[in-house]
Amino acid sequence: MDAEFFRSWLAEAGTAIESQRDHLTQLDAAIGDADHGINLARGFSAIAVALAQAATPTPGSVLILAGSTLISKVGGASGPLYGMALRQAGKSLGDTTDASLPELAASLEAALAGVQKLGAAREGEKTMVDALAPAVAALQKAISEGAAAVDALSAAAAAAAAGAQATISMHALKGRASYLGPRSVGHEDPGAASTAIIMGALRDVSQRQVT
Ligand code: ADP
Ligand code: MG
Repeated sequence: MDAEFFRSWLAEAGTAIESQRDHLTQLDAAIGDADHGINLARGFSAIAVALAQAATPTPGSVLILAGSTLISKVGGASGPLYGMALRQAGKSLGDTTDASLPELAASLEAALAGVQKLGAAREGEKTMVDALAPAVAALQKAISEGAAAVDALSAAAAAAAAGAQATISMHALKGRASYLGPRSVGHEDPGAASTAIIMGALRDVSQRQVT
């Protein structure tokens, strides 16, 4: 997977976030401050501008520029958290020009570690971690079983989507939704929902490359 693949992923994610912008904002309206879709749509359009303006010859440089852009352009919790995730993923890829599937999995593991270092959320606390952690685990399991990239990334996307759904019954312990206490139960976490969208974009881009 070369730099172009990673740029395509972020473009695809941006398109999907834009089309789900109002949905994500509605999820945040229920348990937060109704800005998650707006924050991410603004962030991903800033990523598209940044990637069009600067040369990003390696997968790592694509992700680092994208992460830095989110940190500088998006307020709220999700900008720094996704920014950290992308920067850590990019750093883990180093100077490679063509990331292997295990390297991609390691980069997503680094993204998860970055989110948890910054936000201190564990699984079960109703955050983006509840989508990202199962996605990373499913990806690693698929790789260990010898799955092809498309199938491994499909498994990761499915695990992220299931993880986001599972946040509905959780009681938020981190972020703004935690202010609601038990009243946060019954609503999907917006950050988990956006992580599922971003992992779905990764699956879609890999499918398109093969077919
Ligand atoms: P804000 O909460 O500042 O308005 P957003 O609405 O853009 O920011 O993002 C909210 C999302 O950020 C939540 O749905 C949750 O998934 C994620 N989030 C918030 N705090 C944390 C944290 N400490 N760790 C991981 N994710 C978090
Ligand atoms: Mg919000």
